[in-house]
Amino acid sequence: MTYKFDALIIGGGASGLMCAAEAKRQNPKLNIAIIEKNDRVGKKLLATGNGRCNLTNLRVSADKYTGSYKTGNLFERYDAEFLLRKFKALGLLTYSDSEGRVYPVSRQASSVLDVLRFACERNGVEAFCGEQIRSLKRENGGFRIKTAENEFLTKKLVIACGSKAAPKLGGSASGADYLRNLGLAVEPFQPALCPIQVKSEVLKSLKGLRAAGRVTLTRNGNAVKSECGEVQFSDGALSGICVFNLSLYAKDGDVISVDLLPDYSEKELYNILIKNKELFANQNADNLITGILPKRLAQAVMKQSGVKDFSRFCADLTDNELRQAAKTVKGMTFGVTQLSGFEQAQCARGGVKGYEIGDKFESKRVRNLFVCGEAIDICGECGGYNLHFAFVSGMIVGEQL
Ligand SMILES: Cc1cc2nc3c(=O)[nH]c(=O)nc-3n(C[C@H](O)[C@H](O)[C@H](O)COP(=O)(O)OP(=O)(O)OC[C@H]3O[C@@H](n4cnc5c(N)ncnc54)[C@H](O)[C@@H]3O)c2cc1C
Repeated sequence: MTYKFDALIIGGGASGLMCAAEAKRQNPKLNIAIIEKNDRVGKKLLATGNGRCNLTNLRVSADKYTGSYKTGNLFERYDAEFLLRKFKALGLLTYSDSEGRVYPVSRQASSVLDVLRFACERNGVEAFCGEQIRSLKRENGGFRIKTAENEFLTKKLVIACGSKAAPKLGGSASGADYLRNLGLAVEPFQPALCPIQVKSEVLKSLKGLRAAGRVTLTRNGNAVKSECGEVQFSDGALSGICVFNLSLYAKDGDVISVDLLPDYSEKELYNILIKNKELFANQNADNLITGILPKRLAQAVMKQSGVKDFSRFCADLTDNELRQAAKTVKGMTFGVTQLSGFEQAQCARGGVKGYEIGDKFESKRVRNLFVCGEAIDICGECGGYNLHFAFVSGMIVGEQL
């Protein structure tokens, strides 16, 4: 069957649903539809924030994002308060935690999805779910899209297909592919907000451990990005929110340094270790850091600092060995080999290059073509920043349709 629409949105995720809801709110007569490849809209949204959906952050600002799309003064108007007013008007009540992260009071991501779905349904947005696009072409100033079942003609087209992250939840590169075929420059997707695979002779012994600290990504000896939080050690990788944030910037060959005792200086720690040497004089060398770090971590620190023979006694450790141990606690190092794959990624770097789209998210090259959400080359840190951008960019596109 052939359908004609004023505007067609490809992708029924966070940005696409917000775009449709806002477009109909502004112009109830608009004839608009969503094409979604999954059998239902918003599958990824349901998985966000561990099922609770961290939908925005009260501290949203440009410096929380990386990528070729620059937000400029976007968040001066479209800040968290603005977005939360929109959601309140849709029926959603929210609360924020001490980090500024905002969640629905129901603690369920389904509440966020439902208010968006209901807004679309009550205003007559059609949703074609489970449709695979076979071709997408420009035609007479508009667009012709064919799926296996139907054909769609539309004046305006919105690409809201997200990125390749989390393919089981709908992640795909197809939005970027459509844009490339329409002549726009696209940066290939790379996993982001994901565990970082590392090499270190002691990593295996740390599997399953968690430690609070400061992680710093360094390149050629220079700090690129630093974060505090809980590091999780797993088989071949480091993870945890602070590591996810480093993954936005990490490259093969970088080094992650973990300060396991950020509240103490290396000098203070060295002085403590001098005392421990006496206190634990007759204990094996791996007990030097007892009372400060978990046993397995303390052993790994001693090994990385060069003390490998644990049959020695603390009393026998040299001054240089104490200094090295203190230095390692303040900067245990792990060499970055690669980022974990898209399956484990919450987001992706890459997408349509920032210079291709104007401040209202319309293509500068192709009239009536709009892009929103993660299909754009911008990626935020953990904390609600990615959904904030998806919702806000979707909303702004909705205002233009
Ligand atoms: C496990 C997980 C947890 C997360 N938690 C948070 C969080 O708490 N806070 C936060 O800010 N961010 C979080 N994110 C990131 C956030 O979900 C995304 O940044 C956001 O959903 C992007 O919105 P979007 O509309 O661009 O893409 P999506 O929400 O991914 O929507 C894109 C939609 O397009 C559909 N689609 C793709 N290709 C096609 C096609 N060819 N034809 C038709 N349909 C297509 C997809 O099926 C999907 O439904 C999380 C991500 C994951 C994977």
